[in-house]
Amino acid sequence: MIRIGFDVGGSKIAALALDPQGRELARRRRDVPRDYAATRDALAQLAAELVAAHGPAATIGIALPGMIGAGGELIRVVNLPWLEGRPLAADLEQATGCPVALANDANCFALSEAVDGAAAGASVVFGATLGTGVGGGIVVAGRPLAGANAIAGEWGHNPLPLLAPEDGPPVACGCGRSGCIESWLNGRALARDFASLGGRAADGAEIARLAARGDAAARAALARYQRRLATALAGVVNLLDPDVIVLGGGLSALPGLYAEVPQLWRPLIVAPAPRTRLVPARFGAESGLRGAAWLGRSGTPES
Ligand SMILES: [Zn+2]
Repeated sequence: MIRIGFDVGGSKIAALALDPQGRELARRRRDVPRDYAATRDALAQLAAELVAAHGPAATIGIALPGMIGAGGELIRVVNLPWLEGRPLAADLEQATGCPVALANDANCFALSEAVDGAAAGASVVFGATLGTGVGGGIVVAGRPLAGANAIAGEWGHNPLPLLAPEDGPPVACGCGRSGCIESWLNGRALARDFASLGGRAADGAEIARLAARGDAAARAALARYQRRLATALAGVVNLLDPDVIVLGGGLSALPGLYAEVPQLWRPLIVAPAPRTRLVPARFGAESGLRGAAWLGRSGTPES
């Protein structure tokens, strides 16, 4: 029996079939239709193609950006509003005859890493994504946590505490608030810091290259980034006390994070010798899709 995962983003549907050991059998990709019935039918069609090629499916899981309830309710779906309030899981179960589970894409990222990725075997896992946005998902005992408001793990829109004078005033966040963790830790924040320290316009990868060559402004920008990340994650450790924190997203590849941040978070964590491990994602950008395929394995998310 195969497991099918879908990652439905603003423009593309990615589909993946895994064998029971987690080996990839096939993948598909197509545009997202712009209405509910066509999206539902496209997912059913892709599932039918994978079943025809690789045998019957035990489960189907779908990763979606936004607020997805513990029962698969599509409360808010970023860039795909025609899905909101629709019974997608029930309709797809009817079309395919297979159990269907839905979850937020950051939760799927955390699940992928918890099942057979960088946090395999850990009981409590926090998956943090650092990119254009800053998000997160929580997995406890192999099951993603949805939460009462379907926002569990959304640490990116907490205010960042313990700002230093060098940070300057809080800036506006895409959510309408200001001073959010996301606005201090996304790619734009790193570029803004580098520029304010005398650097030119550059993205994270370029700043990392310059730092490796000894550029003082790039090194200072990375040091600020590490300090802020440590402050933000110390709050996660004090609240959730995870065994492992897995970082994903483009900025998770910045140099020094995995050595420096656990040193910097030590004085901010109430435990005398914190054992929480900070590790990079094993499956990188593939993790959301793999986690979707593992969703059925874990049953419905915890509320
Ligand atoms: Zn925000």
